Amino acid sequence: MSGADVPAGTPAGARVILASHNPGKLRELQRILVGAVPGLAAEQIISSAGIALPDVVEDEVSFEGNALLKARSAAAATGLLAIADDSGLAVDVLGGSPGIFSARWSGRHGDDAANNALLLAQLSDVPEEHRGARFVCAAALVGPDGREVVERGEMPGVLLREPHGDGGFGYDPLFRPDGETRSAAQLSPEEKDAISHRGTAFRALAAQVAPLLA
Ligand code: IMP
Repeated sequence: MSGADVPAGTPAGARVILASHNPGKLRELQRILVGAVPGLAAEQIISSAGIALPDVVEDEVSFEGNALLKARSAAAATGLLAIADDSGLAVDVLGGSPGIFSARWSGRHGDDAANNALLLAQLSDVPEEHRGARFVCAAALVGPDGREVVERGEMPGVLLREPHGDGGFGYDPLFRPDGETRSAAQLSPEEKDAISHRGTAFRALAAQVAPLLA
């Protein structure tokens, strides 16, 4: 699709679109891409908030598959270089669940308090040595030339027995990254970016963006 067909709301001068409405993810991607791509300004990296993109049914069964679905759809609709991510928590003793169902583990999409309460109850009898888990993120890039790249990032750690901290989102208060004494909800955004699954995946993609914008 050509640039002439860009959906209503797309700012002039935009070069990269993140297929997400999450302002925190946009800021993180802007910080990483601006540092990695000479000549690219933060304002040229936009999110899909306020832009009329088609709804995407995330019916793949992997983080990678769902991230690619979202990036392909945003690239096709806007003609821009599109990036999307899909992420979740994989708990060892639950065989990798909640995984792609992380946002709706308790049955209600996006209800962090209910998701956390259910996870704590499920692990109530599980001893320390078996409370390993990891956050996983797949970040996908679809270029204007149709090129597709997917990178995966992981942040290993352990699940705590009660929530700690009020930063972050989702399962952060229950998760202590390896090498940390604090939960992910007690880290500053910069500290979390430096070790997070999403930071790792976005940084790996950033290295591939510059040639596609040349
Ligand atoms: P999404 O990929 O942004 O839709 O994230 C899916 C779900 O995974 C979120 O709703 C959270 O429950 C969980 N999740 C993903 N990344 C994080 C994180 O960095 N901290 C806490 N929870 C996360």
